[in-house]
Amino acid sequence: MSGLKGPKDGGLRAVAIHRAPWVFSGIGPTVFDGAVVVLNGRILECGPYRAMRSRYGGTAVRVWDHESAALVPGAVNAHTHLDFSLLDFPKPLRPLGFPGWVRGVFKAAAQLTPSARREARDAGRAQASQTGTRCLANVINPPLEGSSSPCAPSREYRFVELLGFHYRSLQEALSMEDVAEGDWVSLAAHSLYATSWNVVVQAKAWCRSRGLPFSIHVAEHSEELSFVQDGTGFCRDLLESLGRWDASWRPLGLSPVKTLQALGILDPRTLLVHMVHVNEEDWNLVAQSGAAVCFCPRSNLWIEGKMPNMQAAFDRSISCALGTDSRASNEDLNLFREAAAVLDAVPGLHPSHVLRMATFGGARALGLESSFGHLGPGASAPFLAVFLSGSCSTENDVAEAIIHQAAREQMAWIGTGMVG
Ligand SMILES: [Zn+2]
Repeated sequence: MSGLKGPKDGGLRAVAIHRAPWVFSGIGPTVFDGAVVVLNGRILECGPYRAMRSRYGGTAVRVWDHESAALVPGAVNAHTHLDFSLLDFPKPLRPLGFPGWVRGVFKAAAQLTPSARREARDAGRAQASQTGTRCLANVINPPLEGSSSPCAPSREYRFVELLGFHYRSLQEALSMEDVAEGDWVSLAAHSLYATSWNVVVQAKAWCRSRGLPFSIHVAEHSEELSFVQDGTGFCRDLLESLGRWDASWRPLGLSPVKTLQALGILDPRTLLVHMVHVNEEDWNLVAQSGAAVCFCPRSNLWIEGKMPNMQAAFDRSISCALGTDSRASNEDLNLFREAAAVLDAVPGLHPSHVLRMATFGGARALGLESSFGHLGPGASAPFLAVFLSGSCSTENDVAEAIIHQAAREQMAWIGTGMVG
């Protein structure tokens, strides 16, 4: 990624108009010969260049021409685990399956020291920033460690994850005093096979009472399906071997999605991560509930060789986000490469839907859509100039070119008023 220079007049800055052949706002149609108007790090509006120029012509204005570039909101990675950012698992030649994969993760995780985790978080944030990610949702596990260095312009939303099928209550699973309530922090449950269902319900209630998002891995692999529906298979064996089995627990005989519905978890502030093993009835339930979905397709291909049915979610207007998951099941944390992998694997999808998923969809899933994931009024700068080669005449052509060029890091952060 290269940098662009902007005005450095300090204090109150002049209105800056960033003009480009294409503006992908994240919330409206792509604008051809468009402009994004910025004042003091906030976007005033975006639209056709001529309209923006005449509206702001009477004020102190500086115009920046970004030739051959598309202006795009920074990506929002709605699901990762930064503690694993320095794992260098080789990409498997064949999918490992969940049992083989999780054994490798347990082994690697046991060897990570607090300083190695801190180093991994810093490296992950740096890679996110370098590859055009403005916000990322990082799942962290107790005991919570001191924060490490932020890496501007990337910002981190933290989900404190609850693990342990044997716990009876949220208080037993987590010392709530350790969860510093404040901006950009909430709770996640790992899954219906690794977290006690009482704890899932109580954690969701904690989030709901505060209006916070709640995240959970759902329907990720076939072993989860067997366990949640029937209480059988590898997950049960694993819980027993770890001494985390609860002999009083009984399955409801339902799919993971229907089980979440029965437990009262599904609502618009719940983020369902993965959603690979999902049938039509499940998708309909998710659509009715308004819950959001975060797809992590490269992770799914790595572990099981199976893609989620994104079209089913798009067809139902389900709110969709995109995540990389962690380096334990992915080659990198570049969300535009994740989007490019989606286009490669599912040629029928509209590239504009995929790009929206990687930007506004993630921001909305995390409750950050007032300031992130789009280029509309009130959004926070900086944003991206993605350098396109060749001409693009339709919205989908533009979105496809943006995804592929951004995946190759052909872009720069702009609109900070300082260094782009
Ligand atoms: Zn995950």
